This record gives sequence, structure tokens and C-alpha cells, in this order.
Amino acid sequence: MLKNIRIVLVETSHPGNIGAVARAMKNMCLSRLCLVAPKRYPSEEAVARASGAQDLLDAAEIFDDLDSALQGCRLVIGTSARERSVAWAVLNPRECGGQVIEEAAVGEVALVFGRENSGLSNEELDRCNLLVHIPTNSDYSSLNLGAAVQLLAYEVYLASLEEADKPLRAPREVASAEMLEGFYTHLAQALEDIGFADPRQSDKLLRRLRALFHRARPDRDEINILRGILSAAQGRKSMRR
Ligand code: SAH
Repeated sequence: MLKNIRIVLVETSHPGNIGAVARAMKNMCLSRLCLVAPKRYPSEEAVARASGAQDLLDAAEIFDDLDSALQGCRLVIGTSARERSVAWAVLNPRECGGQVIEEAAVGEVALVFGRENSGLSNEELDRCNLLVHIPTNSDYSSLNLGAAVQLLAYEVYLASLEEADKPLRAPREVASAEMLEGFYTHLAQALEDIGFADPRQSDKLLRRLRALFHRARPDRDEINILRGILSAAQGRKSMRR
């Protein structure tokens, strides 16, 4: 099940950190490294810091944008060095490890890490079902990227060792990240069409709605029902016109 877990690094600036992440992952039996628009890569610095984990660098996948890196994921967990104000559910690293392992038993899971200088944007966090925050000194909360990956990868590995002793539970099927994105695009358009909201002026509303559906974890059939309702509402509107 560790094979179903991908570590996604968004716009990493320092190639040394990419190497450090590869090493941290390999120590904890994780292998799938996804790089979204890295600033300097490939790089000798990455190879040097990876030490014996060059194989992970060789196999690393590079993407232009975050949505492409999240294709096929049933669970996306974002990381945050700061407490965030909006409606994301925030896990601690231990809870995160347990949840990742439970879901990786049945499908693909992503842990998403941000830029060294500015972390993840709100739009990127909108892609996440959950957030994880590593508790720290509140005056100095930002860990080095490699250290943050090491700590969360360790919790995932620890949870996998514990999971091996438990009877198998089967979490239910849920819609993939790209299916959810398709639904949110449709939802924004429908809200505009039915005159409920102009999404260009209601980022907050859409963020709350995304968080609601991300918490609910709808399955494929439920998304299809919801999209059917949206289409019907949009159709009725045009019939009235
Ligand atoms: N200055 C940035 C911090 C970036 S640290 C900010 O304020 O958001 C680089 C990345 O390491 C973060 O995006 C996150 O992925 C991870 N990270 C660092 N500290 C963390 C913490 N305390 N909890 C969770 N992730 C953390």
C-alpha cells in the first residue's frame, strides 16, 4: 500500500531539498515522487543530497500543474506551516499517518508540500480533502521542506507497521480528484447561471462549498447525481428565459 502514496512537491526552489526529500522518502519505504514545476531540476545538488536515493530521483515524475500531479487520487492531504482560517479540517501528523495508510489500502493518496518561501496557495489548498500541520513553536513554525517530508513520511511508515497487525477494513469508493474538480467547475457555473452568485465575486462562498464536499467525500454516483441536479437547474433557468 505504500506504493499508492505519492509525495507531491510544488514549485520547489532549492534542488538540494528535492534530494533531501528523496532520501527521506526512501528511508521510509515511499517511492513515488512528483515534482510540480520545480525551479531548478535536474541538478547535481539534488543528486548529492539524495545520497543513495538516486533511484527515486530517476523515477521522479514532473508535472506542469498541481491538478495533473493529483490525477487518480482518492485522497489529497495538503501541508501547512501556518494555522489557516477557513474551513479545512486539520490533522496532526499521527492522525495523518493513520488516514493515509487506511486509504492507500484501496487507492491513490497524495501528500502535497509547498514552496520554501510561501508554502501552498489557497487555490492549491482548495484541491485538498484535509490539511496536516506539524505542531511547532508558534513563533517559528516553518520546518525545512526535507524535514517536514521526513516527519510525515515517518508517521505514514509507522502507521503501515501498525496496520499490518490489523484485520483489513474496506473504505468505500470515492470520486477522484479530477472528478471533484469537474464538479466544482460545474457548480461555479451553475451558481452563476441560476443567479445565486457571481463566482468572480464570491471566492469565499466557493471555498466553503469546496470544503463541504471535500469533507463529505462523495462517490462517483453521488457526483453524477449532483451534476444532474445542477444541469437541471441550469436547464430550467434557460426554459424560463
Ligand atoms: N513560509 C511558508 C513555509 C514554507 S515551508 C509558509 O508560511 O507557508 C515549506 C513547506 O514545508 C510547506 O509548504 C509545507 O509543505 C512544509 N512544512 C513546513 N513546516 C510545516 C509544518 N509545521 N507543518 C506542516 N508542513 C510544514
